[in-house]
Amino acid sequence: MLIDTYGRVATDLRVSLTDRCNLRCTYCMPEEGLQWLAKPDLLTDEEIVRLIDIAVTRLGVTEVRFTGGEPLLRPGLVGIVERCAALEPRPKMSLTSNGIGLERTAEALREAGLDRVNVSLDTLRPDVFREMTRRNRHSDVLRGLAAAHAAGLAPVKVNAVLMPGLNDDEAPELLAWAVSRGYELRFIEQMPLDAQHGWKREGMITAADILRSLRDRFELTPEGEGERGSAPAERWLVDGGPARVGVIASVSRPFCGACDRTRLTADGQVRNCLFAREETDLRTALRSAAPDEEIARLWQEAMWGKKAGSGLDDPSFLQPDRPMSAIGG
Ligand code: SAM
Ligand code: SF4
Repeated sequence: MLIDTYGRVATDLRVSLTDRCNLRCTYCMPEEGLQWLAKPDLLTDEEIVRLIDIAVTRLGVTEVRFTGGEPLLRPGLVGIVERCAALEPRPKMSLTSNGIGLERTAEALREAGLDRVNVSLDTLRPDVFREMTRRNRHSDVLRGLAAAHAAGLAPVKVNAVLMPGLNDDEAPELLAWAVSRGYELRFIEQMPLDAQHGWKREGMITAADILRSLRDRFELTPEGEGERGSAPAERWLVDGGPARVGVIASVSRPFCGACDRTRLTADGQVRNCLFAREETDLRTALRSAAPDEEIARLWQEAMWGKKAGSGLDDPSFLQPDRPMSAIGG
């Protein structure tokens, strides 16, 4: 098991497949100048599958989420999913993507064994999309979403971050649109994980702000109160259901006490928290022919050192050196 000193057990593995991306979301990446990981430092497809195998067969991981950067930019993605689907016990597998290119790959991913996707989309307005992502790809994302839905990667979830002065008035519109298409919308509070270190608590759109604006237009009933468990999203039924909306209040209502995550970066480092400032190198062990037991032991040690919380509320909080795109969101 991957257990820490607070008794939390990590069963949910986030694997970053690349730090590169075809968008430049302002809350994630700078316009230019971000240094990419060098190719030789990236794990190969074989190395990734071996680490997931160790996590699933020796360490109790039951869910694997592929992320990045943009995971669809990884040429071997379908093959990685296929090989992970053959593991015993088979992990549940999902993908977090900006949706660009999903139109072409959704079907193949489904056939390879992917269970679900989360597609990030912050706005329904192409001009605002261009401002927020610095790229003119809004229609690609919409087509990617439709393809995922058609391929049966259900339920398709949509992740949205609201930014002051850009799309903070769009919550109700986004929800009405998601409900009409059968997508499950989740709002994520903006976290201090941007490469430019430009995050400010003041002015940040909080879960309370989002709920207030949604309640102007919808009746929201808390779903399964007190049953949030390790799920980061608190969920509400929309107008009596069955449609739902989620809010991930990582900053204003952190859920660290129930965290069940472990993370692997594209260059083979284990992170026990999004906000961790330390990492544990598994790549060197992999490449020096360490046996599975040794790698599993290093991973367990990495998780044992997990802190109680993200430390966001601590005046001495320091943002991690790596941005979200390099950690794997
Ligand atoms: N490129 C893919 C995507 O955008 O879905 C996967 C990686 S991205 C880092 C994963 C998720 O993190 C996205 O939903 C994105 O909106 C979110 N994200 C990125 N930076 C964030 C930040 N500073 N605060 C909150 N969420 C953030
Ligand atoms: Fe790329 Fe996702 Fe970061 Fe946007 S949030 S820049 S899509 S990695």
